[in-house]
Amino acid sequence: MSSRDARQIKLTKRPKGPISADSFELISRPAPEASTGQVVIRNHYLSLDPYMRSALNNADNLGKPIEGRVVGQIMASRHPGFREGDWVFAMGRWEEISLVEGAAARHVDINIAPASAYLGVLGFTGLTAWSGLRHYGGLREGETLFVSAASGAVGSIAGQIGKIGGMRVAGCAGTDAKVAWLTEELGFDAAFNHRTASDITESVARACPEGIDIDYENVGGEVFDAVFRNMRLGGRIVVCGAISQYEREPSPCVPNIADFIGKRLTMRGFSVRDHAAEINDYIDEAAGWLRDGKLKYRETIVAGIENAPAAFARLFSGDNFGKLVIHMP
Ligand code: NDP
Repeated sequence: MSSRDARQIKLTKRPKGPISADSFELISRPAPEASTGQVVIRNHYLSLDPYMRSALNNADNLGKPIEGRVVGQIMASRHPGFREGDWVFAMGRWEEISLVEGAAARHVDINIAPASAYLGVLGFTGLTAWSGLRHYGGLREGETLFVSAASGAVGSIAGQIGKIGGMRVAGCAGTDAKVAWLTEELGFDAAFNHRTASDITESVARACPEGIDIDYENVGGEVFDAVFRNMRLGGRIVVCGAISQYEREPSPCVPNIADFIGKRLTMRGFSVRDHAAEINDYIDEAAGWLRDGKLKYRETIVAGIENAPAAFARLFSGDNFGKLVIHMP
């Protein structure tokens, strides 16, 4: 590989069920050159996110590198807003060097937080938690918030925003160490291990003795069923994700529709993409929380683009702890 070559990972086969290495190919190609209005980014970090699982199912993506958010430094710029060496965020791909339109890149300030944070706590991950609760949760002081996949990238921020807003916050996570982090470090009022619980409905009820006012749903399936049974009058279900369903045919789980009437429930799905324009407002607020120690975060950092497929699989086994990113040193 010459110094101007860069590696990328292409999708060669649509995976059925769990991710395996034979769906991907690592290739090396000459670094791209910028045309007018474009920039070339030397990616330092690539974000791996559960939503990418559906991109792997899409036949249109065969033979191409998967899209992914990146943070890196400008190598070459033919856009007046960027100079060589600038730190930026952009939608790139699973690759070491990305060519993007300058208009779609955004500067990041690595004096506020390390560069990788702009893919997690100060990126679309954090924006997902913030916009979901703000626009669809109807967050109210004194009420109870339940968060599934609570130690994950989005869930851990959603729970802490609930605490900042004066809520009682409970959640579940998949290891005892994750559960301990929630209650001992992040200030969750209650948490349990959903992978070892003998009866998840009972565990949710113990964690939320007054019932749940807002469910910030990340998991779906069995966990959602248990949470739904514990919703209280006027409860709001904010459907952020359903990760338990992404690697298989969705189970035809329909919550008891009569409960929507008796308990006056609402259920609302949302996409962070509809809130992209709010990213700077979010960063301003979250940077303050970080500075004041009100917002904490964890990352699982895996070195090397060649390890992206194996790392991506960890999102589904629960073998990540906080935001999962690839580092390309
Ligand atoms: P996480 O960092 O939370 O990682 C995924 C976690 O999900 C795993 O660590 C694991 O944690 C848990 N998990 C995986 N499989 C299962 C399963 N079968 N049952 C129960 N838990 C499981 O990822 P993110 O924070 O990036 O994403 C969290 C959710 O938010 C996802 O559903 C994602 O699709 C959604 N999302 C939605 C967006 C939107 O715009 N609506 C935008 C971004 C994310 P554990 O150890 O606790 O089991």
